[in-house]
Amino acid sequence: MTAALLEAENLSAGYGRVPVLHQLDLALEPGTITAVLGANGAGKTTLLRTLSGLMRPTGGTVRYRDQDLARVPVERLVTMGIAHVPEGRGVIAELTVEENLRLGGLWRRGADAARETSSAIAEVLELFEPLRERRRYHGHQLSGGERQMLALGRALVARPALLLLDEPSLGLAPLVTARIMALLRALRDSTGLTVLLVEQNVHSALAIADEALVLALGRVVARGPAAELKADESLRHSYLGF
Ligand code: ATP
Repeated sequence: MTAALLEAENLSAGYGRVPVLHQLDLALEPGTITAVLGANGAGKTTLLRTLSGLMRPTGGTVRYRDQDLARVPVERLVTMGIAHVPEGRGVIAELTVEENLRLGGLWRRGADAARETSSAIAEVLELFEPLRERRRYHGHQLSGGERQMLALGRALVARPALLLLDEPSLGLAPLVTARIMALLRALRDSTGLTVLLVEQNVHSALAIADEALVLALGRVVARGPAAELKADESLRHSYLGF
């Protein structure tokens, strides 16, 4: 019996015959933000892709709400409440902000689908003022920060229980990053959203995270409450670079 929303056990993954993740354990408690930190190439993106079903593990298990994800087709994950915002964002340049957001609800079926998606879009536009102002702009007309908000907004239109976020601060001005982080914290507090946040920006991530883990060469080298990791001087010097 477990209280975790998502739990990985003994998880290994790699590309072809090259192993990247080595027997990793991870548990995400509902309504918490967990930061995954580590240098370039540590395996952070590979971990997210494995947890979101984009990559199949080479060993171990991933359970979500006590269901083995290896048995679930990738396209069903969104209906189960898992949303993944990959690095690079994937906003469609030729579509407007509203059209991009609508994509986040395409999985819905049934008589209420269109209405639910419209109300989720209205909520997202309420949260992100810049998107509200530019709802009829096309993707290519947006700044990097706005595109990142749109990618996040589109994931939220699905009303996920678990959000897997890859480097939301990449290429963004500190003020925009701070805004996105504050929003994640507000969503955790108001809706109980569970977030796994991959970040190079250690300060921003530790400022909002409840828990954190540090990866090095595909292994967990430290984990614990974010505040404790932040205070651990030798860890900061060895792995976090501040
Ligand atoms: P970054 O911050 O640079 O994205 P990361 O911690 O997210 O780093 P990963 O992208 O997961 O790390 O990469 C982990 C290892 O897997 C690296 O050695 C990388 O070269 C390798 N790797 C990543 N993607 C592929 C791929 N598509 N094919 C082969 N090897 C890959």
